[in-house]
Amino acid sequence: MKKIQSHLSVQNSLAQDALIAGVFEDIDDDFKKLMRTGKLIPKPLLVCSGGTSTRCAANGHWTLDLRSNYQQIHFDASNGKVHMGAGATMKSLLRELSQYNRTFPTGLSGLPGIGYILTGGISPLSRSQGLAIDQILAIKGVWGNGKCFNISKPTKSSSSNEHLIWRGLCGAAPFLGIVTNITLKTYPLKPITVWEATIKKEQFSDVIIQAENATNEFSLQWIWGDQIQLYGIISNDLEDTNDALIKLKKDFGKDSFFKASKVLGLQNIPPFLLKVSNKTKKTKIHCEVIGLLGPAWRNDCDDLIEALDYLISIRPNKNCFIAAQQLGGVSSQISKSFTSFIHRKAIWKPWITASWEAGNSKDKERSLNWLNEAWKVLETNCPGVHLAQLHQHLPWHEKETKKAFDDWLPGLQNLKSQYDPQGILPRL
Ligand SMILES: Cc1cc2nc3c(=O)[nH]c(=O)nc-3n(C[C@H](O)[C@H](O)[C@H](O)COP(=O)(O)OP(=O)(O)OC[C@H]3O[C@@H](n4cnc5c(N)ncnc54)[C@H](O)[C@@H]3O)c2cc1C
Repeated sequence: MKKIQSHLSVQNSLAQDALIAGVFEDIDDDFKKLMRTGKLIPKPLLVCSGGTSTRCAANGHWTLDLRSNYQQIHFDASNGKVHMGAGATMKSLLRELSQYNRTFPTGLSGLPGIGYILTGGISPLSRSQGLAIDQILAIKGVWGNGKCFNISKPTKSSSSNEHLIWRGLCGAAPFLGIVTNITLKTYPLKPITVWEATIKKEQFSDVIIQAENATNEFSLQWIWGDQIQLYGIISNDLEDTNDALIKLKKDFGKDSFFKASKVLGLQNIPPFLLKVSNKTKKTKIHCEVIGLLGPAWRNDCDDLIEALDYLISIRPNKNCFIAAQQLGGVSSQISKSFTSFIHRKAIWKPWITASWEAGNSKDKERSLNWLNEAWKVLETNCPGVHLAQLHQHLPWHEKETKKAFDDWLPGLQNLKSQYDPQGILPRL
């Protein structure tokens, strides 16, 4: 059923402020007919699962909001699989699984919805458990051409076409179809250790090098705004966690803030957020984010840190920042041709957040220019893109899709011409 409404209530403030055409909440026969005949205009149709990105609602566009009718989560204790509707959040998935002492490698926040899984899903546990797409066992939904699909993970005996379709859906589904349900592998729920520290720029290079040399039980996240904040996760598989924490604390020195805690699973990790002053917090902020992917920094560390220091010093708004997540380990062991997440050898995912005061077009322009400049500086070392956020509305969309999919892009475009020939969903 379609509803004419002007705003969609979502987490992302830019999407929330958009003056939309209206909302669909069901994928019924009328809706599928609209898709089939290409009469759903203006294109693209936007899809809202968790509603945390800027492209779940936009001025003048229709949104398919999956949050009302696709919330169900069912854990099957006989095989450890979970069946999840596309309107549930990562927080609700973790909450449901914890009742059975199970868990899933969600990201740094429970707020995102299935968009987190469909776009790759980099977890602080990805180094020991892989990406979120690596846990998908079956996907159900509707192609852009209005036809339904229900597909299981291919095996060695599957046809090359089945492999191609699976590859397209795992990491590039938003361009091809609307996913309504997925089946996922789960893991036993275990305690994890989280540590946080604030360090000086001079200490940063050693921290990066140590992280790059660490075993898969460790992962490092960092965020650089007014300060450099570190956020580490140590999985339960490490036996001598206490020794590791003592060493970390000693390395940072007594002048650095350092705190560690043991929590039961990712649903209990403390928030990973930019620290801003109370005055800055009061302003309503809009933002856009680009995620990059690249190898270990090794010998380039000092130069990159100098470059980052300069970029932070010229950021046009206190809410602009650069952060990163560590990858590698198990996530790099999957073949690059099995999913659309082709940057399997990436060790770092730095992301650049351009923020501006809502409604201030000059501030917006300055921040987006800053993002572009930061991207140019970082792309020599981080040439890939993690398309966790889509930007069809921005001039760099073509560049980001090329950098996200590289030599797989023509294959994806071919899939799009078969499964979304009318371009109902975001363009590639
Ligand atoms: C606080 C926060 C923390 C984050 N941490 C991480 C992290 O640790 N690791 C990581 O990898 N990412 C992280 N992200 C990025 C996030 O996972 C992506 O932006 C993700 O796409 C958001 O999913 P969503 O369901 O909330 O998005 P939505 O805004 O609802 O949708 C995102 C996009 O995906 C498409 N889409 C959504 N649902 C469907 C569907 N069912 N079928 C087809 N297309 C669909 C939409 O068209 C839309 O363009 C984080 C984001 C936030 C806000």
